[in-house]
Amino acid sequence: MEISQAREHLSLHKRIVVKIGTTTLTYPNGTLNLQRIERICWVVADLCNQNKEIIIVTSGAVGVGANSLGMEQRPKDIIGRQAASAVGQAMLMNIYHRFLMAYNRHAAQILLTRECVGSPGRKENAHNTICQLLAMGVVPIVNANDTIATDELGELSDNDNLSAHVAIFSESQLLVILSDIEGFYNKDPRTNPKAVLFSEVTEITPKIEAAAGGSGSSLGTGGMATKLTAARTALEHGISTVIASGDDPMILLRILAGGQEGTLFRAGG
Ligand code: ADP
Repeated sequence: MEISQAREHLSLHKRIVVKIGTTTLTYPNGTLNLQRIERICWVVADLCNQNKEIIIVTSGAVGVGANSLGMEQRPKDIIGRQAASAVGQAMLMNIYHRFLMAYNRHAAQILLTRECVGSPGRKENAHNTICQLLAMGVVPIVNANDTIATDELGELSDNDNLSAHVAIFSESQLLVILSDIEGFYNKDPRTNPKAVLFSEVTEITPKIEAAAGGSGSSLGTGGMATKLTAARTALEHGISTVIASGDDPMILLRILAGGQEGTLFRAGG
């Protein structure tokens, strides 16, 4: 398939997971970027009106909670992050709920742990709940259940991988990861101004892995490494992933119209 055909093919996808990173949802000082969240909700509601089924995987709870509690930075200890997350999660859901309701769409909170993804029974329950919500026209909003997350930093911070697992068990056709960067480059563009954007990746080679480097910004947590792992997991299950900038949430409409936005990790060779 040629690149342009592969992009056009994205318009056929109906069930899509959209993962939204902390840096897309918040300002650098940790407060909520309300205008951006409102535009995300507008776009998601509009896609639902077009009979698309959108599942949001949201980050941001720890950062938003920490900021609201007057902390100068994300807590370094796990219990502190869990407490900040519990506060921030309620605030985040309140905002999603208010903005989605403005466009007549309900938001549903889904909190998952890695155990849910690993246990067939729990995974089936999560699958059934999400399918039921989608059938009712509701927007499931997924986050890690930080309060009971046990495995140190991994589970608490890696919503990129969570989003890939959600895409798999919800039988989605596409994963879109919205971040603070245009897509996946051959080097980190923040430190290499000459870095070149990959438009399409069909195979995750050692060269691609090396390009992902370590973890990213101070507010976001995963960097490109977790996004690449997520894309690989999705690819292994025949699901394509687009990594793109969430600066302008309208990009979702352009991606789903076949536009050449971000990096497409294309399933199916
Ligand atoms: P988010 O909060 O959206 O999950 P992160 O800050 O965790 O975002 O990850 C995105 C960051 O990853 C970028 O801002 C960039 O600095 C870094 N990065 C590292 N390697 C790359 C690469 N090869 N291509 C693009 N970005 C990269």
